[in-house]
Amino acid sequence: MGPIPAPAPARRYAIWTIGCQMNEADSRRLAERLDAAGWRPTSHEDEAELVILNTCVVRQPAEDKVYGRLNQLRRRKQRQPELMLALMGCLVGVHPAADLARRFPFVDVFLSPSDPEPLLDLLGAPPAAEPESAVVFHGGVRANVPVVLGCSHACTYCVIPYRRGPEHSRPPEDVLREARALVAAGARELTLLGQIVDRYGMDLPGRRPDLADLLRQVAEIPGLYRLRFLTSHPGYFSDRLLDALATVPKICPVVELPVQAGNDEVLARMRRGYRTAEYEALAAKLRAARADLALHTDVIVGFPGETRDQFLDTLALIRRLRPDKVHLAKYSPRPQTYAARRLADDVPPEEKEWRRLTLDAAQVEIQTEKNAARVGADVEALVDGRDAKHGRWRGRTERDTLVFFDGPENPDLVGARRQVRVRSASPFALVGEPISASSP
Ligand code: SAH
Repeated sequence: MGPIPAPAPARRYAIWTIGCQMNEADSRRLAERLDAAGWRPTSHEDEAELVILNTCVVRQPAEDKVYGRLNQLRRRKQRQPELMLALMGCLVGVHPAADLARRFPFVDVFLSPSDPEPLLDLLGAPPAAEPESAVVFHGGVRANVPVVLGCSHACTYCVIPYRRGPEHSRPPEDVLREARALVAAGARELTLLGQIVDRYGMDLPGRRPDLADLLRQVAEIPGLYRLRFLTSHPGYFSDRLLDALATVPKICPVVELPVQAGNDEVLARMRRGYRTAEYEALAAKLRAARADLALHTDVIVGFPGETRDQFLDTLALIRRLRPDKVHLAKYSPRPQTYAARRLADDVPPEEKEWRRLTLDAAQVEIQTEKNAARVGADVEALVDGRDAKHGRWRGRTERDTLVFFDGPENPDLVGARRQVRVRSASPFALVGEPISASSP
């Protein structure tokens, strides 16, 4: 008998993901299916025979990044015609534009958000196996699990409903199966995702389970340390959800609750469906229910018609609220949206930039003070990696603050929890030393 021939090397794929956690989750779910079909991931795009771009179009700068990357790939495809290219996500959308194939003739296949099937068909991949066996979790300690797909709210600035389609909740069994499989594969922290995650279940029979029920069920999974959810809309944050947040220990004390603006006329033009006072009342209620709560919010500056004074209302709101994180964006008109069709983008770019910088300075000041107040306190870090340069472990607190602590490279602490005494703080991170070798 001759020598046993070496097996054919596995074909390799690379996924480039831009945008939100939902896109990250879509990419992970696609990776699982590709792995099941015998493909292997590579972080070196040059080695890949298949490259997938998972795209974001929530604002023009994100879309421009996608075009930059597509241009690179177009040139690579000229040199390497056998390279297979897939374009996925919100640039494609649930109703792909008829001219996509003409605009991007070098792309082999277009995939709507959360729908990898056309690519898998093209590759002759087997149909989805039972999720238990299909999950291949590529390291890390955190994973995102979509629970509400799409969005039907139609905030006047937002393109997501047009690109991700109408809102629908995933059946709870599917969510639980995926969550269990992720924990079995090493995930220690899960984040349940939806554009308006607190609407989970409203389209299910009997409107149950709701998000509170679902969180309680996921929290039961042995081996799971932490559970998060985002994004919440102030109009749907129920008392049942508040109660789960206050009483289920694994649920982290973080609420991602976009306010978008601190002026009621602007909020009305955005069609957010609440007034500033209602938002503030809810924030106070959340903080009363859970004293250690971290409040995260989103703000858009320079929305059509926003005056300097209206912006200053937003600044004043942020100073009153003192959120733990503000995701700031300059308004960017998006195709199909009401705002782009009907409202003039009339705040000049320099003024938008000034508003962004002003608000950002305010939030850095708030975060500096808040983090400085933690010096001397003990926080729990869930370790997710190592900062080799400084010889420190890196993790996140339950309130989702970045934390570094001293310690040798061995043993490997990724996935472990450590109590850390905070020694110093910056607006963006805490630094300290471990005070015990607690749980694994
Ligand atoms: N449904 C989620 C995610 C929306 S996209 C939510 O409500 O947060 C994330 C953030 O991007 C939004 O909260 C908003 O602050 C910002 N955003 C959305 N569309 C935008 C636009 N056209 N211009 C600028 N920022 C926008």
